[in-house]
Amino acid sequence: MRRPRNEESFKEYSFVLRYRKDEKMIEKREIGGNLGRVALIFPNSYSVASGSLAWSWIQTLLFRRGLNVQRFFYEKWFRRFYSMEEQIPIDEFPVWLFTFQFENDLLNIADILRKKGIPIAARERFSYHPIVIIGGPVTLFNHRIVEEIADFVFIGDLECSIEEFTAALMHNDKESIVNGLLRINQIYSSKYNKSEFSNCIGQLQPVPVAHYTTSHSPYKNKVLIEIGRGCIRRCAFCVTGYTKKPVKFAKVDDVIAILEENKDKEFGFISATITGYPYLDKLLDYLENENIRFSVSSMRVDGLNERLLRLLKETDHRSFTIAPEGISQKMREIMLKDLSTEQIVRGLELGNSVGFQHVKLYYIIGLEEEDTSDYEEFYDFLKMVVKMGYKEITVSINPLVPKLSTPFSNRRMIEKKEYEERATFIRKNIPKSVKVNFESYKESRIQYEISHLKAQESLDYINEKLK
Ligand code: SF4
Repeated sequence: MRRPRNEESFKEYSFVLRYRKDEKMIEKREIGGNLGRVALIFPNSYSVASGSLAWSWIQTLLFRRGLNVQRFFYEKWFRRFYSMEEQIPIDEFPVWLFTFQFENDLLNIADILRKKGIPIAARERFSYHPIVIIGGPVTLFNHRIVEEIADFVFIGDLECSIEEFTAALMHNDKESIVNGLLRINQIYSSKYNKSEFSNCIGQLQPVPVAHYTTSHSPYKNKVLIEIGRGCIRRCAFCVTGYTKKPVKFAKVDDVIAILEENKDKEFGFISATITGYPYLDKLLDYLENENIRFSVSSMRVDGLNERLLRLLKETDHRSFTIAPEGISQKMREIMLKDLSTEQIVRGLELGNSVGFQHVKLYYIIGLEEEDTSDYEEFYDFLKMVVKMGYKEITVSINPLVPKLSTPFSNRRMIEKKEYEERATFIRKNIPKSVKVNFESYKESRIQYEISHLKAQESLDYINEKLK
């Protein structure tokens, strides 16, 4: 622990410490030692970081192999960046490992480097600078975004190369670390001229599980546990359906063994879609018999059943979420959503039957095929949902963000003016009792621009945005 020397640092230190004190540990760990010191950085707020199992699980994987890994998160006003575990300033760590989960976090990664006086361009850094490694889902669909920023880009899941990765970092001299990393198949490095790499999706064995819970996470005090990785579907706008293949599922007996040891806890099950988990019935049997409360990250309406919804309702869920995505059947077919209006209606009826009074519906708009008949179908559908008796209906509207690695990658993104016109049209015609939220165009546009960046463009883009 390093006591801060001025008021501003003390404020930052206290902010980090407050979150740390709220964490309840499930797995005891003594962090320490000078060998293998790694700063594991989630370049977003604590709330977002703690809602991601990756931030905990990567630390667990490296910690169990003897590395001194400490977690960091990001706030725009931070200057010192203190670790969660021991409140040590980030400058004291020789290796900075970023988990890059969302495109817009690129600017936060660059901001951290800039605030610590570290050149954003990897080629301008010297041996006394930390080694910067960037991995995570964004690098899986476009590693070129960070190739000029990272000394090393890690592609795919860490589990596949965990032994080599740990061995590489278990050194005190930079040269040995660099040489070790260059031997790993999943590493790409423009700076060190390593262009050959292979991707890998990890087996969920052991089952990834968080080592702490916190009230600040979107999963509020629940233990996160990953039961599925990747998605068997191929919705045309979704990167997960195209980059995370083959899909991996945790063995249900392994999952139940973890639940068995933690019967007094609540759980948050993580999967691209929980309803795609092949052993869901057996898992629900256990959860129901043992009276274990749980949340799920996401579910498809065509896989819903009465029991799943009832158990979620009994946990503490006020609402449930359905993602029709397309505003009409035609648009769903263009999006390869593979979901019929009848299936959505059935899901809504099920929700109603178990007593949900609040439903959230998630849509994507802005495809060039949309016309007024699609919007008419959308309004009629919402009128029908109102008639079903839901007390609260919340619709979330998002502009299509065409992503690389998907069939929509070459589509144009709707312009701001068009998006605003469609928003006005929706507000005017949607049933009055339906609440509608529109995703920020500005944030979506940045997401689109970053997801398509190539090498050198990233540096220019960052410099422009951070001006
Ligand atoms: S949108 Fe959902 S169901 Fe479709 S591919 Fe993505 S994760 Fe799978």
